[in-house]
Amino acid sequence: KKKTTLPIIIGNWKLNGTKNKLNSFFKFIKDKSLKIKKNLTILALPNIYLNYAQELVSKLNINCKISAQNIDIHKQGPYTGETSVNMLSDINIKYTIIGHAERRYYHSENNDIIAKKFILSKQKGIIPILCLGENQLEKDCGKTEEIILSQLNAIASIDKQNKTIFNNSIIAYEPIWSIGSKKSADPDLIQQLHTFIKNYVIKFQNFNIDNFYIIYGGSVNEENVNEFLNKKNVDGCLIGNASLNKKIFNNILVKS
Ligand code: PGA
Repeated sequence: KKKTTLPIIIGNWKLNGTKNKLNSFFKFIKDKSLKIKKNLTILALPNIYLNYAQELVSKLNINCKISAQNIDIHKQGPYTGETSVNMLSDINIKYTIIGHAERRYYHSENNDIIAKKFILSKQKGIIPILCLGENQLEKDCGKTEEIILSQLNAIASIDKQNKTIFNNSIIAYEPIWSIGSKKSADPDLIQQLHTFIKNYVIKFQNFNIDNFYIIYGGSVNEENVNEFLNKKNVDGCLIGNASLNKKIFNNILVKS
């Protein structure tokens, strides 16, 4: 199996974008950074643009994967307004974000719902990009590791037989207080927490780790991206705001 070339750089457009913006974004980065990049670049888009973007990258022969930002917990049925993992698979989407802090906050997604979504996407061969991390209050109370542990335990305990559940997945450590706040976490602390997550998975899976990566997200920009990427156990970055500007995102790709 082909190994992923690091770092993994993921742009998350959230509820932003137009067809025009996608056209000019991909044209710009194709001419610049993506020509030379061999690493994994992913752009997470609103569902309505997934198919369009997928066709665009294939037409322009661009080295960039397209990801969804969420899936429903059902595969099909009377769930108006939702999109299922089967549908992503039907249009050849290979990645989806799961449990982003904004899903947890605005849509009341708890650890159990997120664990269900995680396993659903794994079963369908879609690589989940699982977001986790503590909020400001939890950080202030010194509960960061405890929170991360409960988020990991929810995944580990959904199918007790499955001791390789974290393989073929990406975990994005995103402290909630750092998202969109221009206050990124301290690189040494990130390294420490990524190591904490990795050790958890190593122990749970008894060293059977394969195609498992941990990336950092939260106010990453072109100035600070390498401070994170230079750290041990930081396999990439998940980038919100700074991915919306083609020049800035291009610079991040060039630098990383
Ligand atoms: P940000 O968002 O880069 O704008 O902080 C990160 C994210 O929410 O994934």
